Amino acid sequence: MVTKPTVLIVEDEPSQREILVYNLEAEGCTVVTADNGEDAVLLAEEEQPDLIVLDWMLPKLSGIEACRQIKRRAQTRSIAVIMLSARSEEVDKIRGLETGADDYVAKPYSLPELMARIRAQLRRARPSVVGAELEFADIKLDAASHKVSRAGTDIHLGPTEFRLLATLIERPGRVWSRDQLLDRVWGREVYVDTRTVDVHIGRLRKSLCQNGGDDPLRTVRGAGYALG
Ligand code: CA
Repeated sequence: MVTKPTVLIVEDEPSQREILVYNLEAEGCTVVTADNGEDAVLLAEEEQPDLIVLDWMLPKLSGIEACRQIKRRAQTRSIAVIMLSARSEEVDKIRGLETGADDYVAKPYSLPELMARIRAQLRRARPSVVGAELEFADIKLDAASHKVSRAGTDIHLGPTEFRLLATLIERPGRVWSRDQLLDRVWGREVYVDTRTVDVHIGRLRKSLCQNGGDDPLRTVRGAGYALG
């Protein structure tokens, strides 16, 4: 199956952080946590989460400033951010500050409502997880039925090649390092040599080009791989 989405929770109040960790893990997410704004910016870059739930009032660096930095950097700008703030008047205020956040939720929030907002952002960030049909040029990937075709002809992929393509086709043009692909496709808990990525990229490339057509996979020297 397609790998789990990763969510970074940035909250300095331990009990609130734990509630979110518990609920997100129950939804099948991989969860990473931070308790200050500086670590939020660092972990966003290191972990490349699909979504960040970011409290406003944080030690070291405020959530607003952390959000600005995350949205300014090329490596992290496409990560979805939900900002939490203490009161609804503050939600209106931070909205006006143009932090680049994708959504805002006022505290105290209702947990079902926050979880619904989180799911909505994850559906956008990780369409393959919810069984969407994805396209890039003449390549189609149907995450629900696990089918791939190119120019209308079905292509049979092994499970690893399927997950690789699902990852790449979610964000065409994005360059993925071998380590990032290992985390996403093989999972964080598994130890696999980075050269394994090259082997499976080679297989995916061969399958996608088996009936002709240009090679859609781009090798970026010293950086990794991208689709298109
Ligand atoms: Ca706080």
